[in-house]
Amino acid sequence: PVMQPGDRIYVAGHRGLVGNALVRALKADGYTNIITRGSRELDLRDQGAVQDFFEQERPQYVFLAAAKVGGIHANSTRPAEFLYDNLMIAANVIQAAHEIGVTKLLNLGSTCIYPRDAAQPLREDALLTGPLEETNRAYAVAKIAAIELCDQYRAQYGDDFISAMPTNLYGPGDNFDLMGSHVLPALIRKLVDAREENAPTVSVWGSGTPLREFLHVDDLADACLFLMRHVSEPGPINVGTGQDLSIREVADKIKGVVGYSGELAFDASKPDGTPRKITDVSRIHALGWHHRISLEEGLSNTVAWYLAHRGRVR
Ligand code: GDP
Repeated sequence: PVMQPGDRIYVAGHRGLVGNALVRALKADGYTNIITRGSRELDLRDQGAVQDFFEQERPQYVFLAAAKVGGIHANSTRPAEFLYDNLMIAANVIQAAHEIGVTKLLNLGSTCIYPRDAAQPLREDALLTGPLEETNRAYAVAKIAAIELCDQYRAQYGDDFISAMPTNLYGPGDNFDLMGSHVLPALIRKLVDAREENAPTVSVWGSGTPLREFLHVDDLADACLFLMRHVSEPGPINVGTGQDLSIREVADKIKGVVGYSGELAFDASKPDGTPRKITDVSRIHALGWHHRISLEEGLSNTVAWYLAHRGRVR
């Protein structure tokens, strides 16, 4: 069966970047029965509470976009929390979905859980083939367990549970906190501030040569709806653009969108990180999905969102 407009659809993690985009996309597509709960109303780490919630609400479709996430600092100082919270969230939601007989569940992974030294572009079959990046190993182990749960529930019980693996995301609702954010929101914020203050230079971390891929979160939401409607296969499915560009190029693009006329100053005392990070998207392309939002368009709407919400951003 394919999701119908009146079906009961639970979006776990609806306040996050991804969950929020999923709710927007579902509403835009005419779905009227979207179920959400904030973490204070429903603690997804609490098995009994999750079971009760599923028995009461009886969702037919579940998007598992709830997770404890954070940057390198949070991950390396609180690894036990990242492991425990994410294991519990995944195990509780997947088991409860199985028990009440959910029609289909889509679990969100992340390409940051592939092995540290996996060949680029990252292929789905690289999962579990080598050592993980030390700084987010706890998070990665929990997220890998979630993918394994989906696959094993499919294998043992025939449950239609699938996993999507998004690349680096950006877009409305992102984290714009300079110490905790990723490069796109950080540069948007710095360049907007610099334009207003007429600052002559803006600091860009590292050499500007690392290559990164960026996917707009509305494209990810679109891909998740596509997978929910049309794909029932085990194993993770990468979701990305398959296109990368250098940090220097992306900084120049944001500079153009923001309308900043000063100079970019590359700060070599800051780390570059991995030289290249890009996903192999041939699997999802073969399934029939392709991203639609160009980086130019996505940056414009993210800058616009930031300008409209800057007093209230995370
Ligand atoms: P990564 O993809 O895991 O390395 O995470 P980031 O998005 O934080 O960084 C990507 C690249 O952008 C790295 O090479 C950073 O050094 C570079 N970069 C340049 N300026 C900034 C900045 O202001 N903030 C962040 N987070 N990264 C920056």
